[in-house]
Amino acid sequence: MDRLLRGIDGARTVRVVTAVTTEVVREGCRRHGLRGVEAVILGRALTAGCVLVTLTKNDDERLRISLQADGPVGRVLVDARGNGDVRGCLERTLEVPVDPATSLRPSVADFVGRSGRLVLTRDVGLENQYQGVVSVESGEIDLDLERYLGESEQLPSALACEVVLDAQGEVLRAAGILCQTFPGSESSTIDEIRANMHGDALPALLRADRSADELMGFALLGDDYELMGESSLRFRCTCGVERAMAVVSTLGADDIEALATEPGDTEVRCSYCGQSYTIEPHDLLALAARLRKERS
Ligand SMILES: [Zn+2]
Repeated sequence: MDRLLRGIDGARTVRVVTAVTTEVVREGCRRHGLRGVEAVILGRALTAGCVLVTLTKNDDERLRISLQADGPVGRVLVDARGNGDVRGCLERTLEVPVDPATSLRPSVADFVGRSGRLVLTRDVGLENQYQGVVSVESGEIDLDLERYLGESEQLPSALACEVVLDAQGEVLRAAGILCQTFPGSESSTIDEIRANMHGDALPALLRADRSADELMGFALLGDDYELMGESSLRFRCTCGVERAMAVVSTLGADDIEALATEPGDTEVRCSYCGQSYTIEPHDLLALAARLRKERS
């Protein structure tokens, strides 16, 4: 089971979140049929969702990341919840899967794009919603989110989300680290941590199986930390037959009846998780009849 740890350094100047997301990323890639560079893109985004939703430590919190740039994969969407559930997808997949360069940390910018918009929406319960927007510049997912935290949320931060692939382009390991300094801390503290997190050391470390606890020591340059909380993570979607029917009902009674007379069943696919729902003709007719009754 993937785990996330929240901690604070011994000097109480840095807040740290580490997450091992290997199972989450594998499941997301399995559902969407992704490998190679696409797996790295979705994996970095899912991992970022897991660590960034922890900022308020509220189980009801929900965070949505929407990154829309000019690369071939189109919009990258992630929806993460404070209870550890996360889901996400790419708008388009590449016609031919691409294995990323063999460097420890491959660049994904050619596929994500280097010009666009990154929007973060936080639901913090009680209908309070907060939204922030920055431009996409690096196209590497985590680096743009790191800049977002500094610019839009004014939190000096270091964010690294890594997906290490095996020789076949399948997900070997995935993990993320978020460090933030408290107001009044020396800016050199986060600069040193950031330089360490963005080198080749982290992906190299992940070639071996590492726990979230070991990643804490790495993030804090070997310093001790105090554990503030831990939770489990999973790829989980909120879709279901009822949601699929709700999508179909937006077509209106006439079109639903027409759909029922076409040969074969109607399939509704959830874009977030790839799950398909089959709706049979008699269910469509019942839905159309209900819609007419509600309208009359
Ligand atoms: Zn779904």
